[in-house]
Amino acid sequence: MKSFNPICSHPTLQLLEKCKTLYALKQVHAQMITTGLNIHTYPLSRILLSASPLSLTYALTIFNQITNPTVFLFNILISSIITHHKNHTHIAFGLYNRIFTHKNLKPNCFTYPSLFKACGFHPWVLHGLALHTQVLKFLESSCDHYVQASLLNFYANLGKFDVARYLFNQISNPDLATWNSILTAYARNASNSTSCVSRITNGDSSLSLEVLYLFTEMQNSLVRPNEVTLVALLSACSDLGVLSQGIWAHAYVVKNNLKLNCHVGTSLIDMYSKCGCLNLAYQTFDHLRQRDTLCYNAMIGGFAIHGYGQRALDLYKKMRLEGLLPDNVTIVVSMFACSHVGLVEEGCKIFDSIREVYGNEPTLEHYGCLVDLLARAGRLQEAEEKIKKMPMKPNAILWRSLLGAARVHGNLAIGEVALKHLIELEPETSGNYVLLSNMYAKINRWDDVKKVRKLMKDHDIYKMPGSSLVEINGTMHEFLIGDKTHPCTKEIYLKVEEINNRLLEYGHKPRTKEVLFDIEEEEKEDSLSYHSERLAIAFALIASDASVPIRIIKNLRVCSDCHDSGKLVSVIYQREIIVRDRNRFHHFKDGTCSCLDYW
Ligand code: ZN
Ligand code: ZN
Repeated sequence: MKSFNPICSHPTLQLLEKCKTLYALKQVHAQMITTGLNIHTYPLSRILLSASPLSLTYALTIFNQITNPTVFLFNILISSIITHHKNHTHIAFGLYNRIFTHKNLKPNCFTYPSLFKACGFHPWVLHGLALHTQVLKFLESSCDHYVQASLLNFYANLGKFDVARYLFNQISNPDLATWNSILTAYARNASNSTSCVSRITNGDSSLSLEVLYLFTEMQNSLVRPNEVTLVALLSACSDLGVLSQGIWAHAYVVKNNLKLNCHVGTSLIDMYSKCGCLNLAYQTFDHLRQRDTLCYNAMIGGFAIHGYGQRALDLYKKMRLEGLLPDNVTIVVSMFACSHVGLVEEGCKIFDSIREVYGNEPTLEHYGCLVDLLARAGRLQEAEEKIKKMPMKPNAILWRSLLGAARVHGNLAIGEVALKHLIELEPETSGNYVLLSNMYAKINRWDDVKKVRKLMKDHDIYKMPGSSLVEINGTMHEFLIGDKTHPCTKEIYLKVEEINNRLLEYGHKPRTKEVLFDIEEEEKEDSLSYHSERLAIAFALIASDASVPIRIIKNLRVCSDCHDSGKLVSVIYQREIIVRDRNRFHHFKDGTCSCLDYW
């Protein structure tokens, strides 16, 4: 049925848009019947679109009265149900099956995207796979970009990146929507795997690297990025700590007059703070015209990981004054801020407010923050009590904070309890064993140290190698412990020697005993001076301009000897050094660190 202008612009149809109630809609429907509009496809599509959000039953009644519905009408109703009635998507699938009961009908490329979307949010894996075979059967091979993009999203959300990537490669000249689908899928999954706010990165950055790689490919094609693309790109930059590419993205937004909306703003704040530029993060935050809860969360989180607990709390208060409601993430980042600077009472107040002010029940993650807060401050018994009394089963993160704090405060009894739970929950994680062995070493129980090491050997557990990244003029250089693969190895090791001599002149005493075992996961056998961050700092001193701070990204915690020497190097060489380790930032400047040695 061809739709022609007189029908498309019929005054009755204009009324449809104004229908806010089912009653009003029924009146317009009656008019359509008396004027005979309801036998034409286009008017029918319009009333289905208006009726479906108001009443699914009514929309279905209208649809069932159509004698020969076209695929266009099927598609309209299917996608409207999936958009407006997430709990009734099975009805949409029923309609899809009904297409085949009409001899002359066949689904087309507009039928599938919403169905794949529905499979994604349930998630109906088998439905999705079955649909994919039907796409291959019923659609021409030169399939439309939207179908490809929705298929690709479906597989990417299942974590099947090889299939998603294969589908993407099949698309000749992908358009902006398709590029955004694949980039967003990679970026989202990279940050999902680091969902715990209290950890900056999980050490596996392959998905984020893939985003940067794909983005370069996109730039080589003629497709120009938009806001959605940049959000994906920035999230990868945050994860990897690639400041230069992040700054490029910011400049691109400004130069091309893209919208600096809350999404882009939040991504920029997050990128700057995770790349160590807290000032730029705050400038961006300050200049945003509109700020939502997510923008505040990113900025509070930024202050938190940089150790500015009080500023984080001030912002938390300001946010509430502006009438924005804190969400779960706000609570978590604010408590994290308190915990890292020892603001125990303030942190407890925030925890209590979850129930008293906002009327919610604290989540597992909130309990995690509370335990961390108390344990770090040395209130270990209280922390252990909280774990015992919490209404849900504690996870490994909770026991790990208790263990970490027990080590710092030398409480062996609580440390052992925590470790037993931890090894039960994650028998393969090397860090747990290493923490306990460090603790035994600290009080000279060398036999127990040996036992733990043997336990690790028996369980075939290996430590994750430490690595540090440093960006020099836009290129990332990676160093492992004792690394000799860099082209400038000779100069780097000479520099390390020079640094060590100057450290000795300044009275630095390598903390050999403690250090041997304080190193969380790095090889103790290797000499301290060749820890990956030491090599990275030496290289940066040689290769970068003296006026810019040195930014290092490390996948593990910094050991206490590297921490001490980092502080001294910042005075001796008059350089600001910013190290992002697995948990937080250390700004070494004029001989002190922003963490105040509390990490
Ligand atoms: Zn070290
Ligand atoms: Zn520090």
